[in-house]
Amino acid sequence: MAGAAHHKILIVGGGAAGITVAASLKRRGTADIAIIEPNDTHYYQPAFTLVGAGVYDLARTHRSTDSLVPPGVARIKAKASKFDPSNNTVELSTGDKLTYDYLVVCTGLKLDWAKVDGLAEALGHDGVCSNYSSEHVTYTWDCIKALKPGDKTVFTQPPLPFKCPGAPQKIVYLTIDNLRRRGIRDKVDVAYYVHAPVIFGVPFFARHLAKIAEDRGVRIFYQHNLVAIDAKAKAAIFEIAGGDKQGQRISVPYDMLHVSPPQSPPEEIKSSPLANAAGWVEVNQNSMQHVRYANIFSLGDVASTPNSKTAAAVRKQSPVVVRNILRLMRGDAVESGYDGYASCPLTTAHGKAIIAEFIYGGKVTPTLPVLDPGKQRWLSWWIKTSFLPMLYWNYMLKGYEWFPKHNTAFKEPAA
Ligand SMILES: Cc1cc2nc3c(=O)[nH]c(=O)nc-3n(C[C@H](O)[C@H](O)[C@H](O)COP(=O)(O)OP(=O)(O)OC[C@H]3O[C@@H](n4cnc5c(N)ncnc54)[C@H](O)[C@@H]3O)c2cc1C
Repeated sequence: MAGAAHHKILIVGGGAAGITVAASLKRRGTADIAIIEPNDTHYYQPAFTLVGAGVYDLARTHRSTDSLVPPGVARIKAKASKFDPSNNTVELSTGDKLTYDYLVVCTGLKLDWAKVDGLAEALGHDGVCSNYSSEHVTYTWDCIKALKPGDKTVFTQPPLPFKCPGAPQKIVYLTIDNLRRRGIRDKVDVAYYVHAPVIFGVPFFARHLAKIAEDRGVRIFYQHNLVAIDAKAKAAIFEIAGGDKQGQRISVPYDMLHVSPPQSPPEEIKSSPLANAAGWVEVNQNSMQHVRYANIFSLGDVASTPNSKTAAAVRKQSPVVVRNILRLMRGDAVESGYDGYASCPLTTAHGKAIIAEFIYGGKVTPTLPVLDPGKQRWLSWWIKTSFLPMLYWNYMLKGYEWFPKHNTAFKEPAA
């Protein structure tokens, strides 16, 4: 296209996936890579749970985007606003157009605060908090510290898909642990309203987590969807999502309301030829290659693959994307290297966690199979709070790929 700048590899989004893919391609000697990324701040979102629970400083969760873009990779500070894959062209929010040989789409997903009436206005004050918001995550900790005997806490889990399937419940357990340490656990009500009919999508971990929730006295309400907040009355309005009362609404009073918001594909993806019917970038679930455009790949939260949307999934998807782009450049066929791996470290108390690792079909695949994956351990807490952040900043985002293989032959211990 006349006048449009061209790059051999164009990456849309400089989050966990975009930086990892760029660094890995660069490490393998690939030239002429550009990343389109509008934001100057890059967050390590998995630590938001720890910030909300008062065990991690927000300052440790972010770095400047420019400091993470690998040397020799161009950063284009703009948003991709239109995709024209038939002409290998991306239009930017600035009006400029870029062309490419290979396109990697990793814009992440959209947090739909507006889908819950009154949420955007209520967030960040009078007890309404969310670990999903970098702007308001520290307010979760303010809310927890302010809890006193007689208070009612309400936590929500939105309809799938949403990023990090464990995040909405991790903060439930960490709040309870704080109340226990302060000697007021039995004086504060903890209620967890979950859209799904189960506490977690993988049955093995769901059994363990349901038991933990029961032991901690969490009142769980399945198939309840947060639809509105009446901030004046301090009431959360839920719509019942299944059973005899489907469609009915109930009003639940709160002193602290932790919201995990509904989530969806970004509008510019949804309205593009790249999207599937649900709006996600339509790729093969094993090769990460677009099903209609062979020179386009997607990974991370925006990809249509039915894995749990996590940074851990990105860590295993990125080498597949990188290898497949290099294969196409050599004229080889793509390979099917991604098995749906995701990992979710569920913090069940300060100093305790369960690391849920699994692949497509909900098969449990621990990296350390000698340890029963259903057990709460200090080691798993250390992995979540110390090892994984280090791995993210110094290894994954630097384009290093080797990691011990998760064990696909693992046999789940009997319930
Ligand atoms: C509270 C919370 C807890 C979590 N806990 C865990 C956990 O314990 N373990 C785990 O593995 N994962 C966890 N995650 C999920 C993890 O952070 C995401 O899955 C991961 O960041 C996905 O990477 P991504 O690159 O797809 O998206 P992101 O990292 O969100 O990056 C997307 C990037 O694309 C950019 N972008 C958006 N639109 C455009 C556009 N049109 N043009 C150009 N750029 C664009 C954005 O600015 C952003 O920088 C958690 C997330 C949250 C919020």
